[in-house]
Formats: sequence, C-alpha cells, structure tokens
Amino acid sequence: MAKIALITGISGQDGAYLAKFLLKKKYKIIGTVKKSSKSSYWRLERLGIKKKLTIEKMDLGNLKDIDKIFKKYDFNEVYNLAAQSFVNKSFNIPIATSNITGLGTLRILEIIKKNNRKIKFYQASSSEMFGRVLNSEQSETTPFNPQSPYAISKVFSHLITKNYRNSYKIFATSGILFNHESPLRGKEYVTRKIIIGLVKIYKKKLKSFQLGNIYAKRDLGYAKEYVVAMWKMMQKKKPKDYIISTGKTYSIKDFINLATAYLKLKTKWVGKGFNEKLILKKTNRPIITINSNLFRPSEVSALKGNSSKAKKDLKWSPKTNLKKLVKIMIDEELLHS
Ligand code: NAP
Repeated sequence: MAKIALITGISGQDGAYLAKFLLKKKYKIIGTVKKSSKSSYWRLERLGIKKKLTIEKMDLGNLKDIDKIFKKYDFNEVYNLAAQSFVNKSFNIPIATSNITGLGTLRILEIIKKNNRKIKFYQASSSEMFGRVLNSEQSETTPFNPQSPYAISKVFSHLITKNYRNSYKIFATSGILFNHESPLRGKEYVTRKIIIGLVKIYKKKLKSFQLGNIYAKRDLGYAKEYVVAMWKMMQKKKPKDYIISTGKTYSIKDFINLATAYLKLKTKWVGKGFNEKLILKKTNRPIITINSNLFRPSEVSALKGNSSKAKKDLKWSPKTNLKKLVKIMIDEELLHS
C-alpha cells in the first residue's frame, strides 16, 4: 500500500521539491498551507504536480487545525517544513515567528504523541542555529549560538524534536540544513533577489537595486538535492540528526560575481563599506548599491557545514557546485521573467 506523507509548507521551495520527489516514490501526499493568507501555488504549478496532491488548510498556530488533519489521514511520515522562514522579517515579527517556527513544531509533536506514536517526524532545522559560530566548521556537535528570533525558534524546535524522540520513543529526526537555493526560492531571499535584479538589468528592465551585507558568507547548496536527504533520514532504522551542507562557503559578493560573469555583464566594484557599488562598465552607472537598512540587527558572518555524517550514514552528498547553481537559477529566470 502507498505510504501517506504530510508535508507542511508544501507551497514553499522545499515543500514543492519534496512533493515532486515523493510522488516519484509513489507516496500519497497531503500538503498543508496556512489558512490566514492566500497561498500561492506557483512552485507546484511550475513543477507540474499541483493536480497530483491533496491540499488542506492547516495553520501551525492552531492546535485544533492540526488535530483535525491528523484524524482525517493515517500518516506514515510527516515533514514539517512550514515556518515563518525569513530571518530578517523575524526581527519585525518576533512573536508570530516564535509561535509558528517554534511552537508550531511542538503542536505537531503533541498531536503525534496523543494520536499515533508510530508516525515518523522530520523537522526542518537550520544552520542559522549556529549563528555567531563557535567553530569555523559546524557539525552535529557544534553548540548553537543563534542571532535572530527565527534562529532561536529553530533551536527550540530542534531541541523539542530531540526531547520527544528521547522521552516518547517517537521517530523524530532533524535535518540541520545549510542554505539551499533554487529557481523556486522566495523573491525576498538574497540569492533570488540578486538573480531577479541582474536578469532585469540584463533585459534592460531595471537600472539598479540595493543589498545589505554582501560580505556575509554562506554554505550554498541546491534545494532539489537537499530534499532527498530529508527522505533518506526518514528511511533509517534509528532517528538521528544530520548536517546537510556542501562544506564550501562563499560571500554574497562571490555569488554576485558568478552571476554577472554568467550573464556576461562587464562590471567593477568601487568604493568601500556602505559606499561600495557595482558599476556597469558600459554605462559607468551603479547597478548594485548598499543600503544599511537592509543589514540584520545582529548579523551572522560565516557558515560552513560538515556533512560527513550524512555522507557516511545516508550515502548523501551534494552534486551541484555554486557556479552550476547560479547557471540553473539564471537560466530559469531568463525563461520566466
Ligand atoms: P519557504 O519557501 O519560506 O516555505 C515556508 C512554507 O511555510 C510556506 O509554504 C508557507 O506557506 C508556510 N507557512 C508559513 N507560515 C505558516 C503557518 N502559520 N502555518 C502553516 N504554514 C505556514 O521555506 P523553504 O525554503 O521551503 O524552507 C522549508 C523549511 O526549511 C522552513 O522551515 C525553513 O525555515 C527551513 N530551512 C530552510 C533553509 C533554506 O535555505 N531554504 C535552510 C534551513 C532551514 P504560505 O505560502 O501559505 O505562506
């Protein structure tokens, strides 16, 4: 009989890729979106899978909503991907972020504890939990030092997942995923914002755009590959936590340089600090400027993950390097913009 999976946050980047992957594995998929706002299904439509899914409304802020869905379906696996996932926004709406990204996880675990402890549970943990890092390379044993309401909520979710695993013998596992990008990334995230902006400049539809900290360094992988690791974790005999990363770290400025090179935009960086600019040589005008208001109140300067445990236990390793990822994102943006 086909396994039944619940994907919370199915309308997001990872939800869409995971749904596509699980459909190939012949799962029946129930995907949930939040009640309060109009969810957009453009990602599911672009992947051509919307009609193959059952979509339900379920807000992670509402215990009754969750209980209803868990009574309606007999889930084998639950992937908790829903979150207020934008770090910068979490500084503006810290309470709502904690309620969904933090307590939302506990609400699902409580329902699993009460209804059916055989359900396997995956939690979308984040490299942001390491924050102002205490080791130059982060592994499963590196202490957390989170720097935003988002990251602090993710630490809560991570620890409560571990607690329910230890206390109630629930198969509860967390993937500590480092940044993963794709053409399906939300427009507000810096990598997609850069690709959208540069493609518009390339098409002469935009003159310039602004960014925050271009010296932040991140370990950037391809989302389509990262969802496979989520599934692999859920197929193990014992639930464990895993780092999923590339092991390489690049600055946002490196990302921009790869994108301008692929688009063959001839550019040069001039100035320093808040006055640094990227100039288009042909016009001698800035196409990227720095806006101090776009910096986070508390920055995370560099993240780099060690995913050797995943490589050994899950036989998972990343295949797409940053140059290729930039190409994938630009090619699709050129097609759809
Ligand atoms: P995403 O594109 O922002 O998707 C988040 C999803 O959560 C959306 O479908 C959103 O639905 C849903 N959601 C938001 N508030 C909700 C609520 N109150 N109740 C129910 N659903 C709600 O994020 P993603 O990039 O796919 O990431 C998936 C998960 O992995 C997130 O938990 C994220 O924090 C975590 N993560 C991501 C990365 C990364 O680099 N992408 C790295 C580490 C961890 P609506 O469309 O209805 O708003």
